[in-house]
Amino acid sequence: MPGMKVCIIGSGNWGSVIAKIVGHNVKGNNRFEPVVKMWVYEELIDGRNLTDIINSEHENVKYLPGHKLPGNVVAVPDITEAVKGAKVLIFVIPHQFIQRLCEQMKPHVAPGAIGISLIKGIDSGPSGLRLISDLIRESLEVDVSVLMGANIANEVADQKFCETTIGAQNPAHGQLFKELLQTPNFRITVVEESHTVELCGALKNIVAVGAGFCDGLGFGDNTKAASCGVADLITTCYGGRNRKVAEAFVRTSKSIEELEVEMLNGQKLQGPQTSADVYKILVEKDMVSKFPLFSAVYKICFEGKEVKEFVTCLQNHPEHM
Ligand code: NAD
Ligand code: 13P
Repeated sequence: MPGMKVCIIGSGNWGSVIAKIVGHNVKGNNRFEPVVKMWVYEELIDGRNLTDIINSEHENVKYLPGHKLPGNVVAVPDITEAVKGAKVLIFVIPHQFIQRLCEQMKPHVAPGAIGISLIKGIDSGPSGLRLISDLIRESLEVDVSVLMGANIANEVADQKFCETTIGAQNPAHGQLFKELLQTPNFRITVVEESHTVELCGALKNIVAVGAGFCDGLGFGDNTKAASCGVADLITTCYGGRNRKVAEAFVRTSKSIEELEVEMLNGQKLQGPQTSADVYKILVEKDMVSKFPLFSAVYKICFEGKEVKEFVTCLQNHPEHM
């Protein structure tokens, strides 16, 4: 039986690291086809197509410079061509682009294909919060697992040890994705509670923005830890992009949008956008006062609330009253 074709949808910082892992893992594993297609949002780098650079130099010079991708990873700019015949779909793009991409992919997805989402974010649809995996499942009619963990992309690329969790409602799919994605330094646990895994991965980005505000305002470790949880949350509050840009937001008084462009070279923040998605739902459900941290991050990022007032949201937390 021929191996399953794998397609990676996305090629940013994390997408490129995943391509490095998957390209390596499919070699010599006859469950999978040895060539892996990676959909790339085409852009020009010094007058050359990013896809041409990746296919000739085997490096994503913009989003993961300094790391070679395996030669069997082929960059494809056309989404319909990238997904053609693929039985395994790995979604790893900033969440703000997923809906449109699903619409483009829909007519071309192979029957019986399965997916896994590495996307951290949520969708605020008309009937409230929708998980990105549900958005993909509903629009493409494929089973979707998720993978989330304390996984700063550059550290995984450097093969620094870390753990991650696959949430798979279908255990056989969970095992298949583990086989495709695990390495000696990227250790995977598979659980069935995929919605919990995904929600934790999405919401920690808002907290990371709060942690950046604490650093920018010069607060101590106690203050920062007041908003901290475990694993991914701790990692993101120290090393992530959301935290870094939020600190600069306080120190420079530039907007989040300006800083994203200046500091991230095309990479995208998920925390501010997720705070906006969540805030919309909190307003609809009349629950703003129950989530002061999430609401304050949103108001500071988008409504001009003074960042100096950030800590009052914790002082006035309903649990403390
Ligand atoms: P990124 O932020 O590095 O890169 C942005 C990507 O978006 C680029 O590939 C760019 O080409 C693409 N893009 C820009 N405009 C676009 C458009 N209009 N339509 C479609 N694509 C467009 O991306 P990333 O780090 O790979 O993040 C993808 C997901 O993975 C996010 O949900 C993120 O939270 C999650 N994640 C990231 C990390 C990390 O350390 N980078 C770790 C774990 C999870
Ligand atoms: P940032 O997007 O804030 O860099 O976080 C990356 C991440 O999700 C680490 O697990």
